[in-house]
Amino acid sequence: MYIVMLGAPGTGKGTIGKILSKDLNLTHVSTGDIFREQINRKTELGKKIEGYIESGALVPDDVVIETVKTRLLEPDVENGAILDGFPRTAAQAEALKYFLKENKPEAKRVAIELDVPDDEIIRRVVNRLICTNKSCGAIYNKETKPPKEEGICDVCGSKLKKRDDDNKETVTKRLEIYRQNSKDLIDFYRVNNALYSIYPKDVDIAVKDIENFLEEYKSKK
Ligand code: ADP
Ligand code: ZN
Repeated sequence: MYIVMLGAPGTGKGTIGKILSKDLNLTHVSTGDIFREQINRKTELGKKIEGYIESGALVPDDVVIETVKTRLLEPDVENGAILDGFPRTAAQAEALKYFLKENKPEAKRVAIELDVPDDEIIRRVVNRLICTNKSCGAIYNKETKPPKEEGICDVCGSKLKKRDDDNKETVTKRLEIYRQNSKDLIDFYRVNNALYSIYPKDVDIAVKDIENFLEEYKSKK
């Protein structure tokens, strides 16, 4: 099963996606993480996309689609994945549909939409801290989920940092872009009867709700 996490920045796609990934034993694939790693490693791809990400703009569809297709041919995602941050446009959703049709004709595809009011999103994102240890990637919030020791990850002891694009100005832009694209994107999954929308106030409750939905969804098809 390929589970697409939809939602504006800061709605909890990463946090919830990672929990679902463990619970359901599906690899978590985040395009944002892939891109940030390419930028850190100063690869050709990294150089090409750096400007877009810093300003909060979307990376062009063709670049994103190529990156994801390559990733989805790797063995750890053979039986499915949690897709976090992809698709983000209707064109990307189409590309995913055809990719799966060609390469994984048996696969089921379902989208989970995390819907959070804008003012809450901005508060969440400007206070967000992430673990610098890539294999951990734990996410904190200075207000709502602070680490026990300031600046240090509870899980692995590595340093925490703010993401370069988590400032008010860039978040506002990312939100605007999300709102522009999300209607078509959400409709795309709604017409396919493969959409579950939820306001994730509490992470654990949200995860339970989503897992219940997925159980039902699996048994229906
Ligand atoms: P957030 O959901 O908080 O915006 P992500 O880590 O998902 O963060 O993405 C960070 C940035 O990476 C985005 O602002 C965008 O520039 C780029 N990006 C990630 N995924 C995509 C995508 N599917 N299409 C276009 N750009 C993307
Ligand atoms: Zn950590």
